[in-house]
Amino acid sequence: MIWAPSSAQTTSGESDLDYDFGDRAAELRGRLRQLIADEIPPGYLGAFTDDPADLEVAQRFCHRLADEGLLTVAWPKEYGGAGGSVWEQTVVREEMWAHHEPRGAQYMGLNWVGPAIMAFGTDEQKQRFLPPIAAGDVIWCQGFSEPDAGSDLASLTTRAEPDGDGWRITGQKIWTSYAEMAQWCVLAARVGTATAKKHEGITMFLVPMDREGISVRPIRSMLGRHHLNECFFDDVWAGPDEVLGGVGNGWSVIRRALAHERVGIVRYARCDRLLSAFAEEEGVPELLRARWARALVDVRVARLLAYRAVREQEAGEPRDATASIARLAVTQCDQQVAEVLFQAQEDRSLEAGADAPVAGAVEDHWRYAQAATVASGTIEIQRMIVSRHLLGGRK
Ligand SMILES: Cc1cc2nc3c(=O)[nH]c(=O)nc-3n(C[C@H](O)[C@H](O)[C@H](O)COP(=O)(O)OP(=O)(O)OC[C@H]3O[C@@H](n4cnc5c(N)ncnc54)[C@H](O)[C@@H]3O)c2cc1C
Repeated sequence: MIWAPSSAQTTSGESDLDYDFGDRAAELRGRLRQLIADEIPPGYLGAFTDDPADLEVAQRFCHRLADEGLLTVAWPKEYGGAGGSVWEQTVVREEMWAHHEPRGAQYMGLNWVGPAIMAFGTDEQKQRFLPPIAAGDVIWCQGFSEPDAGSDLASLTTRAEPDGDGWRITGQKIWTSYAEMAQWCVLAARVGTATAKKHEGITMFLVPMDREGISVRPIRSMLGRHHLNECFFDDVWAGPDEVLGGVGNGWSVIRRALAHERVGIVRYARCDRLLSAFAEEEGVPELLRARWARALVDVRVARLLAYRAVREQEAGEPRDATASIARLAVTQCDQQVAEVLFQAQEDRSLEAGADAPVAGAVEDHWRYAQAATVASGTIEIQRMIVSRHLLGGRK
């Protein structure tokens, strides 16, 4: 470990984490903020759009981070990383989300696709797929949810039929973020007929999005800038070297992927920055001060809960329940902050634009926050995972 948050003893004798990452983390934060100031236009809110100008900014920024050794700071050097710690990666994530995630859609590859390939991929897959992610060259998307399989993901019906030494895949995915701009997809499909144990047979494929038989249709939504899609797979070929984690072992890959995803989207950092920026630049109306302070406390709690999950990742023992607890806290404070600031802003959100960057950021935050408790598993499903762990003793 290079460095980590300091640990403190609680009154119950348990070792727990606090916010202090030490001087080297502060240095890293300073470096990242300078890079953002140099590369990202003021008022940038375009992380998740299909606007070519925004995509170009994100692409250029990812290349710059990769050149500086900061894009995959915690990955092993053999895969293009810097061999750092998960805490360094956490600092990078926090600075990115605090500044409207200027890595854009590439955060998916960095956050969970890369780690899933590291955990489940063959040597050949690792050599093939990890260096381009580490170089900032590639966008991945996640083809899991279907029209009738979201919370109950194990009911998915996209089928992979054996054909020669490979597979032919047919089915429909929905809510696929960034599918229009992605070059690759981690696609969940079913091999063989469904049994009583629905998880069995699910298999993950790594397929290029320009392969024959794949079509993508955008879904316009209240999130504002577009990034959601439907994807159709019509007899799409996948070779034997494009199966990730073995035939029928997709559920383990999905669980690992979702645990990483839930912890990697550190929107608490954005909440924290927005609350401070608003207080400094606009001032919090007296009537809302108590709610503003409460929201800040909840944001800081969410941050500590996320650190617990990072600590488990560091120990190589990530638990679904810890990731879900962190996700519950983060998504709820996302909405809480959105409401407080939207209300504090009154009708000024309509003035959003280059001259009112904080108002624009609040409006953008509010829109996405509405979906936060659905994306990556709904709030009810996260609660269920936590209760199973607490009541049923599951990992
Ligand atoms: C912004 C955004 C981005 C997304 N990006 C992606 C992506 O990139 N790739 C991808 O594959 N998917 C993506 N999703 C899809 C997301 O994972 C699903 O929307 C989510 O899992 C819920 O599934 P569903 O929409 O089918 O809702 P449903 O599963 O139909 O749920 C409807 C409601 O019923 C509740 N419910 C369902 N089952 C139970 C139960 N057993 N007990 C109690 N309540 C229950 C749910 O909590 C919810 O409130 C994204 C979603 C959003 C909003």
